[in-house]
Amino acid sequence: MERLKVLITVKTYPIPSAKYDELVCTAGVREDGSFVRLYPVNFRDLPFSQQYKKYQWIKVEATKHKGRDARKESFRPDSDTIQLLGEPVSAARNWTERAQYVLAKKSASMEELYDQQKSDRTSLGIFKPKKIHDLICRKDAGDWKPSFKAALAQARLWEERSVSKEPPRKVPYKFQYVFECDDPRCNGRHRMMIEDWELGALYWKLVDKGASSEEAAKSVREKFLGDLCAVDRDTHFFVGTILAHPTTWVVIGVYWPKLWKSGSSSRHEPLLF
Ligand SMILES: [Zn+2]
Repeated sequence: MERLKVLITVKTYPIPSAKYDELVCTAGVREDGSFVRLYPVNFRDLPFSQQYKKYQWIKVEATKHKGRDARKESFRPDSDTIQLLGEPVSAARNWTERAQYVLAKKSASMEELYDQQKSDRTSLGIFKPKKIHDLICRKDAGDWKPSFKAALAQARLWEERSVSKEPPRKVPYKFQYVFECDDPRCNGRHRMMIEDWELGALYWKLVDKGASSEEAAKSVREKFLGDLCAVDRDTHFFVGTILAHPTTWVVIGVYWPKLWKSGSSSRHEPLLF
C-alpha cells in the first residue's frame, strides 16, 4: 500500500462493469508531474465528502496493479481512504499554478508517447497538438453492448445497494478529435476518440433540458472544438490507453488555458511580483 498525493486532472465517462458496477478511470499527476491512474473507482457511490473535483489535490492509499493491468501508472485505490485536500487549484493567471504540475512531464507529441510506451509501458500523458483539424461526431449505438448490460445486471443482483441507481447512460454518438503533432514522423491526421466524462455530462445536460440528440451533439462539438480548441487557447490533450486495447490511445481530457498574450516571456512560469 502506498500513500499517494494526486492532483486530479481527468475522469473518464463511466461504463457498466460486472465487477465494479460501473467503471471510471481517474487520472492525475503527482507533485513531480508524473502520471497516476486510479482504477477502478466507483465514483458515483463515493460519499459526497470524497467526490473529488478536477484540479483538486487528494490523498489516497493505493496498491500497484498486478496482472492484467500492467500499465505503469495504474494503481488500485482504497476508496475509503480518499481525502480531499482543500479547494481545487485555481485557474487564475492562465492556469499558472495548474501548469506547474500538469505540464511538468509533458510529451512533445503522440509519436514520443508511442516511443515511451514501447520503452517503459507509458500509458498516460499530455502533449500539445500542433494543429487540431476537426472534431468528428458520428451516430453510435444507443445502448451499451448486451455483454455490458448483462454484466451490470449481474453485479446488481449481488449488490443491493446499487439496485435503485440508474445505470450510466450511453451517449449515442462517438466524438473524435482529428489532429497532427509537432513531430516529423507524424502522419498528420490522428483520429482519437474522446472519453472525457465532461463531454458525456454536457451531452446529457443538453438533452435533459430539451435538446434533440442531434442538437446536443452539435453543441458538444461546438464546445469541444470551438471553445476548448479556440485560437486564443493553449490547448493540450490528456491521453491514455484503453485496458482492453493497450495500443489504442484516446483523449481523456482537455487542458485549455488562455494563451498568454504575445510579448510575455513568462508563459507557464510563475510571475514574480
Ligand atoms: Zn502525430
